Amino acid sequence: MELLKRKIIEKGTVKEGNILKVDNFLNHQLDIDLLNEVGKEFKRRFAEENITKILTAEVSGIAIAAITAQYFHVPVVFAKKTESKNLDEETFEGNVYSYTKEKQYKIRVSKKYIAKGENILIIDDFLANGQAILGLKEIVDAAEANLVGAGVVIEKGFQEGGKILRADHINIQSLAIIETMEDNKIVFRDYRD
Ligand code: 5GP
Repeated sequence: MELLKRKIIEKGTVKEGNILKVDNFLNHQLDIDLLNEVGKEFKRRFAEENITKILTAEVSGIAIAAITAQYFHVPVVFAKKTESKNLDEETFEGNVYSYTKEKQYKIRVSKKYIAKGENILIIDDFLANGQAILGLKEIVDAAEANLVGAGVVIEKGFQEGGKILRADHINIQSLAIIETMEDNKIVFRDYRD
């Protein structure tokens, strides 16, 4: 998606530990015009699928999933990262290992909000090692729902996640795939000037 790639080049900064900071439009301030285009593009890529629900994880997936859902006309459910008294006791759980924080945590969704046989589209901001999407997939599997695919805004193609998930036959649609980002120079996998 050229508009997104241009925005990454213009506003993204590369941080230590192979982290791309996109706070200007995706992770802190939100560029709603851009997110609408992201939502439309996900709809175009999954147009043939009968999606009944969008699943993401709090916090940064929520805005993207909510805007995308307007083009699918389905509800969004976001997995919660913190245990809370407000969350129903009956939950589906997934495990996520965070390489940046070097720890494992659980994500949870109330059993009320994913029904057996539903067609689920996962949406997330980044795909790096694939742990977040695998954790969300665990929830979909536990609910006996169908995982239709995953829409990712930015995939870091030099990390293993994309390879692992595609080998697992998950339909991963990434709107920008970064091949390298050494010395602050971001190169996309299929970038044409
Ligand atoms: P994974 O589970 O695929 O290793 O990482 C995905 C999650 O980690 C995303 O949901 C995102 O929140 C975070 N993440 C991974 N890499 C980056 C990055 O380079 N920049 C930002 N902003 N978040 C990242």
